Amino acid sequence: MSGYASDNGMYMPMEIPKLSEETLKSWANLSYKDIVKEISKLFIEDEIPAEKICELIDAGFETFKDPSSPIVTKTLAEDVKLLEMFHGKTLAFKDLSMCCTAQFINYFLDQSNSSATLLIATSGDTGSSALHAMSSIERVDIIVLLPKDRISQVQERQMTSVVSDNCHVIRADGTSDDTDVPLRKAFLDGELVKKHKLGTLNSVNWSRMMVQIAHHVYAYFEGKRTNPETDTVVFIPTGGLGNATAGCIAREMGLPIQMVCAVTNDALHRAVYNCDYSVTELTVSLASAMNLQVIYNFERILYLLSDMDTSLVKKIQEDYQERNKSTIPETLVNKLKEFMRVTKVTDEDIIETIKRCADENGGYVICPHTASALSAAYSLEALKDHNAVIYAAASPAKFSDALERAGVQWTGRNLAEELAAKEVRYTDWEASDDWLQKLLELLDTIHARRSAHSK
Ligand SMILES: *Cc1c(COP(=O)(O)O)cnc(C)c1O
Repeated sequence: MSGYASDNGMYMPMEIPKLSEETLKSWANLSYKDIVKEISKLFIEDEIPAEKICELIDAGFETFKDPSSPIVTKTLAEDVKLLEMFHGKTLAFKDLSMCCTAQFINYFLDQSNSSATLLIATSGDTGSSALHAMSSIERVDIIVLLPKDRISQVQERQMTSVVSDNCHVIRADGTSDDTDVPLRKAFLDGELVKKHKLGTLNSVNWSRMMVQIAHHVYAYFEGKRTNPETDTVVFIPTGGLGNATAGCIAREMGLPIQMVCAVTNDALHRAVYNCDYSVTELTVSLASAMNLQVIYNFERILYLLSDMDTSLVKKIQEDYQERNKSTIPETLVNKLKEFMRVTKVTDEDIIETIKRCADENGGYVICPHTASALSAAYSLEALKDHNAVIYAAASPAKFSDALERAGVQWTGRNLAEELAAKEVRYTDWEASDDWLQKLLELLDTIHARRSAHSK
């Protein structure tokens, strides 16, 4: 349930299962949901019986618009495939991994007849996805820290409008990198973690990572359906590298995909092209869920690139965490560059791409994150020589400001109006407050309530 081990490193499997060519061939026509099941079985069949895994995954996807096909594929001009990953409850791709993870967590808590408290710092979509997935799971309390005034109104309302006694939404006056600090400190305290059974549902959560591996396997087959003879390149809108790291694991398993990470902040770009792994000033772009300088999951990519050299990863990460700056050996980034490229995207690129996509595709509207990925594809020379697959990360309905700026017509759901009608509940934490102290107080309150209930 926790992404971080008590030595401050991130959890990773000690062995990555391999997908043989035969296995891949035999999966070519599976549905996305079946691929999630196959991937999960490879990793956790020793912990949850296979049949139960399938049951839990089916239950998770019940919340989707069409539970039998959670992902909808569109074909755009120039044979570009676009995977709409946003047909879950909160209209962002995180619902895909979150709904399964919620089921897995509930399963383990049921088995041990216990409860847990999950802590989440969110840059926009993780929080609402987690709240919606967990609000009906009684064994779980969930605390979400959202960066006040730094995400869209719709995103904020999607969280504050989850009114349930096990959901605790905090509007903290800081960036999403700031809100991560007290959480990371809490996880370092082994006693505290044990007492409250602390876990997280951030992209550092291993289960979410595992489910996301399936995105890439499915994308690979969707790409191959365009042209079986050419490479498949996936275009990923990237922030904390959750989805991208899952892609690297898929690669390690033997999936022959090429990846392009679209970024609005340059942290990953500097790491890959300058070996400079550091935190600099945040660029606040229209793609709010990508506004991060701390690329959390990069540690996991380093682990894969270094052939699981944990002492090397530890050394790099210690530098990074102590001085916000570290250097990556060139041999490692060279391995990464064999299959990953990073493209920096500006707000102008995003606006231009939203417009161009609507113009060329009969008024089809995309969100700013999706636009960053599509912009990276448009900037690729000889786009037609590849099977390009774009990850459409969120519904445009969540980002009306950007759509207005691009001057495109949105005729879908009016979320702002739907959400404005709902009751809200939240607590504000000021920039000057001691957030760790506030967090500890809240944990005690939750603990006291649970103890009273169980008496
Ligand atoms: C979370 C999110 C991202 C960034 O995803 P990572 O996997 O953390 O890099 C991009 N776009 C949207 C819409 C998101 O919700």
